[in-house]
Amino acid sequence: MAREPIVTGPSAADLRNVSELSALAALEVVGDEVDRALRPQRIRDMVGQGEVVARLEIALDASRKRSEILGHMLFDGPPGLGKTTLAMAIPREMGVGFQIASGAALQAPKDLIPYLTNAEENSVLFIDEIHRLPKIVEEFLYPAMEDFRIDITLGDGMNARTINMSLRPFTLIGATTRAGLISAPLRDRFVMREHLEFYTLEELAEIIRRNARKLNTEIADEACHEIATRSRGTPRLANNRLRWVRDYATSKADGRVTLPVADAALKMQAIDKLGLDGQDRKYLETIARTFHGGPVGVEAIAHTMNLPPDTLVDEVEPFLLRAGLVIRTPRGRKVTSAGYIHLGLEEPEEPAQGNLF
Ligand code: ADP
Repeated sequence: MAREPIVTGPSAADLRNVSELSALAALEVVGDEVDRALRPQRIRDMVGQGEVVARLEIALDASRKRSEILGHMLFDGPPGLGKTTLAMAIPREMGVGFQIASGAALQAPKDLIPYLTNAEENSVLFIDEIHRLPKIVEEFLYPAMEDFRIDITLGDGMNARTINMSLRPFTLIGATTRAGLISAPLRDRFVMREHLEFYTLEELAEIIRRNARKLNTEIADEACHEIATRSRGTPRLANNRLRWVRDYATSKADGRVTLPVADAALKMQAIDKLGLDGQDRKYLETIARTFHGGPVGVEAIAHTMNLPPDTLVDEVEPFLLRAGLVIRTPRGRKVTSAGYIHLGLEEPEEPAQGNLF
C-alpha cells in the first residue's frame, strides 16, 4: 500500500518558491494526476465522516464570521481515510495559504523553522505523521502554536544567544495514524481533535460511483458494491481498486465495468471477498500457523513476516481488528473464530492459552 508522494523537508529556498505560488497551486503538489482528479477539493465534496465534517464546518464558519484564526486541529485514524484530503480542503475553504510537511522529515528545530517563518498570515501548516516528530522539535513547536513565537539559539558555547522571533499567526493541522503516540502536552495544544473512522459500504460505493464518472468509466451498480465490499472501508483502497478494475476492463473487456469484470480483476490481484490482500492474509496465517493462533506480540509477527512492526500496526491491523478477525489482548494478538473461518482453517480445539506448565 504505497503512500502518495508528499512534499517533505524542502529547503528554505524551495519553501520561498512554494509560498510565492498561490494557495491553490501549492495544493497541487500532492499525488499523481489521477489522484488529484479523484481527491475531493472542498469539504462539501467529501463523502461520509458526517459528524466530523459537521463540526469542522461550524469551526470554519465561526472563524470566518469572527475574522479569527482557525484553531489548531489534529486528525487521527488509519491511512487512506481522508486526513490529508480534509487538511487540504480547509485552506481552500478559508482562502488561505497552505504548506505541507511530514513529521518524519522534521528531525531538528532547524527543519521546522523555514515552514514557520514562511507561513503567511492565517495560513495552514499541515504536518503529516506528526507522531514522528522528535521531542526536541515538539517542544520547539509549543510556543509557536501557543503564542506564535519561537526561540532561536544562535551560535554555541559561550557565544550562544537566544533570540525570540514572532511569527505570523497560522493554523497547525496535524495528522497521525497513531493518536496514542502523541504526547499529552502536544495533544492538548490542538483545539479540535477528530478521529476518522472506516467508511460504510454505501459511502464507499458512492465514492466509487462518483470517481468512475470523473474517470469517464461506465460502471454497473453491482460492480460499485463489489469494489466497495473489497476496499477495507478505505477510500484510498477503493480508488486504487477502481483504477485497477478500470484498466482490466479496458484491456480484457469492452471498457465497461460489470460485476464479473470487477470480480475477475480483483481476483487477479488476490483481493478476497472481504477485501484482504496477500499481506493481510499472511498476517493472519502467521498468527494461526506459526504461533498457533496466538497470543503473540506484534514484533514477533513482524519479524516472521520480514516487515517493520509499524506497517502491521498502521496498515494491516486496524481493519482486521475492526472486522473481528483478530483481537488484541494484554499478551498479544490472537486470531478469532471468524479469522479461522475466513482463512478456511480449522480452529484448534483448545486455543493456545499460554499454558507454560
Ligand atoms: P490519509 O491522509 O488519511 O492517509 P487521504 O486524505 O490521502 O488519506 O485520502 C486518500 C484518498 O482517498 C484521497 O486521495 C481521496 O481521493 C480519497 N478520499 C479520502 N477521503 C474521502 C472522502 N471522504 N470522500 C471521497 N474520497 C475520499
